Amino acid sequence: EPLLAGGRGGNKENDKDSEKDKKKGKSAGTVLRLLKFSKPDLPLVLAGFIFLTVSASGEIFIPYYTGRVVDGIVIDKSQAEFTHSIIVMALISAASAVTAGLRGGCMFIANRRLNLRIRNTLFSSIVNQDVGFFDTVQTGDITSRLTSDTTTMSDTLGLNINIFLRSLIKAIGVLFFMFKLSWRLTIVTFIGLPCLLAVSKIYGNYYKKLQEKVQDSLAVANNVAEEACSTMRTVRSFANENGEILRYADKLNETYKLYKTQAVMYSGFVWSNMLFELALTVSVLYYGGHLVLDGTISGGTLISFILYQIQLGDCVDSMGYVYTGLMQAVGASEKVFEYIDRKPSISHHGNVICDKIQGYIEFKNVCFSYPSRPDVQVLKNISFTVEPGEVVALVGPSGGGKTSCVNLLEYFYKPDSGDVLLDNIPIHQYDHHFLHKQISLVGQEPVLYARSIEENIRYGLHDDEWNTEAIETAADLANAHKFITELKEGYKTQAGEKGVQLSGGQKQRVAIARALLRRPQVLLLDEATSALDSESEYLVQQALYKNLSGRTVIIIAHRLSTVEKADRIIVIEKGEVIEQGSHIQLLSERGVYANLVKRQLLLTDSQWSSS
Ligand code: ADP
Ligand code: MG
Repeated sequence: EPLLAGGRGGNKENDKDSEKDKKKGKSAGTVLRLLKFSKPDLPLVLAGFIFLTVSASGEIFIPYYTGRVVDGIVIDKSQAEFTHSIIVMALISAASAVTAGLRGGCMFIANRRLNLRIRNTLFSSIVNQDVGFFDTVQTGDITSRLTSDTTTMSDTLGLNINIFLRSLIKAIGVLFFMFKLSWRLTIVTFIGLPCLLAVSKIYGNYYKKLQEKVQDSLAVANNVAEEACSTMRTVRSFANENGEILRYADKLNETYKLYKTQAVMYSGFVWSNMLFELALTVSVLYYGGHLVLDGTISGGTLISFILYQIQLGDCVDSMGYVYTGLMQAVGASEKVFEYIDRKPSISHHGNVICDKIQGYIEFKNVCFSYPSRPDVQVLKNISFTVEPGEVVALVGPSGGGKTSCVNLLEYFYKPDSGDVLLDNIPIHQYDHHFLHKQISLVGQEPVLYARSIEENIRYGLHDDEWNTEAIETAADLANAHKFITELKEGYKTQAGEKGVQLSGGQKQRVAIARALLRRPQVLLLDEATSALDSESEYLVQQALYKNLSGRTVIIIAHRLSTVEKADRIIVIEKGEVIEQGSHIQLLSERGVYANLVKRQLLLTDSQWSSS
C-alpha cells in the first residue's frame, strides 16, 4: 500500500484528479525546461537527430528484405533475386550502423555539456542563497542535488529522448510496413498492443514515486556519512566509529527496503510485459500460419511481419521505459530546479557606493529572530551607536545575542524590524562588494580554505587589490608573519582542508590578517583572539590599537584584558542592551559588568592560589 499512498492530501476524487493534472502539466513543463537548457547545443543536437533518423530508418527496411531473401530462396528459387536482396540489406545495415555511431557521439557530447551547464547554474544559485538557507539545509542534500540529481537529469533525459525518437521513427515505419504486408495481421496486433501500453504506464507511475523516495533516502544516508567525515576528530575522540557505521548502515537499510519493493515491481513488470508479448506473437503466428496455408500471404511475408511485430514490441517496450526514465529525470529535475529557482530572501542588489566611509554604526530599534527559528526573538528592540574610530566591546553571557549583532552588520540576515545603519544608510542599500570591503569580520570560528596561506589571506580580493608586501604587512599586524615565515614553504604553505594543518591560534591570526589586508573602515572581531595565548593576544592587540586609529572596531571578547581597553563597553544580555559605558564607569555602577569582572578576577585569584 505505501505505493498507492504516494499522492499528497486531497480526500475528494476531484481534488486528486486536478492535482494529478497539475502534476502532469508540471512534469511536461519540467521536461520542456530541461530541453530549453540544451538550446546552446542546438546544432549538435540537430545533427544527432538527423543521424538518428537515418539509422532508425535503415533498421526499418531490414525485416522487409529478410522476407524478400526468404521468398527469393523458397518461392522464386532465383539466384539473382536472392543476391540482390542480400546486397541491399547489407548496405542498409552498414549505413545504419555508421549513422548510429555518429548519433552516439553527437548526443554524448551534447549531453555532457548539458550536465555541466546545469551544475554551473545550480551552483551559482546555491552560492547566492541567503545565509539563513544554509542554516536549515544540510550540506549532504546540496551535494547530492549537485552530483547525483544533475547526473540523473541529463543522463536519463538524453538517453530517453534518444530512445523515444528512435522508437517513434521505427514504430511509424514498422506500422507502415505491417499494413503493407498484411492488414489482417496488423489488426490482430492492434488488439493486443493496448495491454502492453497499459502495463508500462501503470508501472511508470509507481516507479516515479518510488524513485523519489529512494533518492530522498539516499540523501539522508549521505548526510550521515558527510557529517561523520567532517567531524572525524570528534568521532574519534568519543570512540564512536561503530556508532557512525551503524547509523549509516541503518539509513542504507531504509533504502534497501525501498529497493526490495522496486525489485518486486520490476519483476512483475517484466513478467507481465513478456507474457503479453508472447501471447501476441503466438496469436499472430497462429492466424498468419492459416493465411499462408490458404495462400493469402507468402511465407516470406509472414516472416517479415513477425520480425516487424517483434520490433514494434521493442518500440513499445522502450517507450514504456522512456516514460519511467523521463519521470526519473523529472523527479531529479524538480529538486534541482527548486534550488535554481529559489530566490534568496536577502538580495545583494544595493547600489550605494561612496568615496569614504566614516564608520558610524547605528542599531535602531532592531528586532531579530533567525529564519530557522522564527518564534525565538534573539534581539529585542536593541539600539546602540558606535562612533567613527571608536573601539567598542560587546560583552555578556553566551547566547545573549552578540554574534547576532555582527551577523546583522554583515547583512547575513535581515532584521525583522528596525534598521542597521552604516553612516546613516541602511546597510542593505550598499553595493555588496563595496560593503564587504568597508566591513571586515574575523569570526568566532576562523574559516580557512584548502589553499595556501597567501591565498587564504587575499581571499576574495581581485588581483589589483593586493600585493605581496601588503599581505606581509597585514600578517605582521596580525602577529602571524613570524610563524608563517618559519614554516618550510612560508606563505605558500597549504593550510589543509578547513585549515587543519594549522593550530587554532595560527588559524585565527591568518583570519585576522585576511580581514586587515582589506584595510576596512569597520573591523568586527568576534572572539577573534580567543584561541591565542595571552602573550600572542597582547601582541595582536597592541598592533591593532596602534594601526587601527580612525577605524571603527567592534570587539566581542570574554577576556577582561581585551575588554577593558575599549573606549566603551556594551553589555548585551538576552537580546537587550543592559549597560554601557567605559570600564571604570561600569565598575562604579556595580551592575552586571562589575559582577562579570569580579567573577573573572576571582577565578584568576583561585588559579593563582592553586598554582
Ligand atoms: P552570543 O554570540 O552572544 O553568544 P548569539 O548571537 O550567537 O550569542 O546567539 C543568540 C541566540 O541566537 C542564541 O540563543 C542562539 O541559540 C541563537 N542562534 C544563534 N545562531 C543561530 C542560527 N543560525 N539559527 C538559529 N538560532 C541561532
Ligand atoms: Mg557569539
